Amino acid sequence: MSGATLFPALALLLTTCIAHAGWLHKDADIMGTRISVELFHDDPAVARRGVDAVFEEMHRIDRDMSPWIATSELSRLNREAAQHPVAVSDELFELIRTSVHYSRLTHGAFDITFASVGFLYDYRKGVHPDEPERRAATELINYRNLVLQAQGHTIAYSKPGVRIDLGGIAKGYAVDRSIRLLQALGIHQALVTAGGDSRMIGERWKGRPWNIGVRDPRDEHKLVAVIPLENVAVSTSGDYERFFEEDGIRYHHIINPASGDSARGMHSATLIGPDATTTDALSTSVFVLGVERGLALVNSLPNIDAILVDAQGHLHYSEGLLAADRGEDIVKTPATPAAR
Ligand code: AMP
Ligand code: MG
Repeated sequence: MSGATLFPALALLLTTCIAHAGWLHKDADIMGTRISVELFHDDPAVARRGVDAVFEEMHRIDRDMSPWIATSELSRLNREAAQHPVAVSDELFELIRTSVHYSRLTHGAFDITFASVGFLYDYRKGVHPDEPERRAATELINYRNLVLQAQGHTIAYSKPGVRIDLGGIAKGYAVDRSIRLLQALGIHQALVTAGGDSRMIGERWKGRPWNIGVRDPRDEHKLVAVIPLENVAVSTSGDYERFFEEDGIRYHHIINPASGDSARGMHSATLIGPDATTTDALSTSVFVLGVERGLALVNSLPNIDAILVDAQGHLHYSEGLLAADRGEDIVKTPATPAAR
């Protein structure tokens, strides 16, 4: 997992319980990211069914919502919605509606129309738009350019050139869907991860909680914090996940909708909350908002916490975590200083 890591108190214990006590673990690459499932059930057949159900669901959501698959529902929307309203599935309509909710909540920091400029970047090839291109395309970023019609579940784009991409919320949504499928199968101890988004249900092992480790954004082998948690979702957005550097400037995949350029206020934002759709949308949002505005938002929301690593490598905790820290539950290590 890219940002926050989950591991039991003793690695050895984990190996033992996977091998002997009905735990199953599987990893695969889907949606351009690493998917991982760990779950427990007394009946190994049910456990296997659970793992299969999660991977099928991840594939299904990828087929429907990937902007890179020409036949996906989302690609069709991007091709046609500037010409006429397009009727979409209830599921896609609801996820786009949820995305617009987060745009309003974050005053536009979260905006799926970021893709109107986002497609001009290629992080693998080291490509970014030049200044006039970026400025022109940034004009098109605005969630208000999406016209949602509840009746008939249609979506239209009010300007040509507008595009959407659900990369900031769909992985968390897929994790939540997976957890719901597992619960329907009677599985109540599980961890599902899609890239930087995870959700865990049930206690980990004989009353011990899961431990969440937040990685150092500039050193993948180092953790800057370890927190024991249960029954929560955790998402990390980081500037190290997809990026390239040019003339000392880091171009990465989280776009500030106001500028069309990468957001550069911090190195990583880890959000903790009740479900992964929420933590996914909020981790991207808080990353864009920066430390001060991001923490103000987090502290105003019930049941949401955050650990931020700022652009100097300093850690910041939400009020809820500072309160929890009284019992010294959180193990902290300084992050690698900035300028790397
Ligand atoms: P995450 O790792 O959850 O922060 O997701 C990053 C992904 O979110 C990027 O790869 C884009 O697909 C998408 N994204 C980038 N900037 C934004 C933004 N300002 N609002 C919504 N989604 C975004
Ligand atoms: Mg996100």
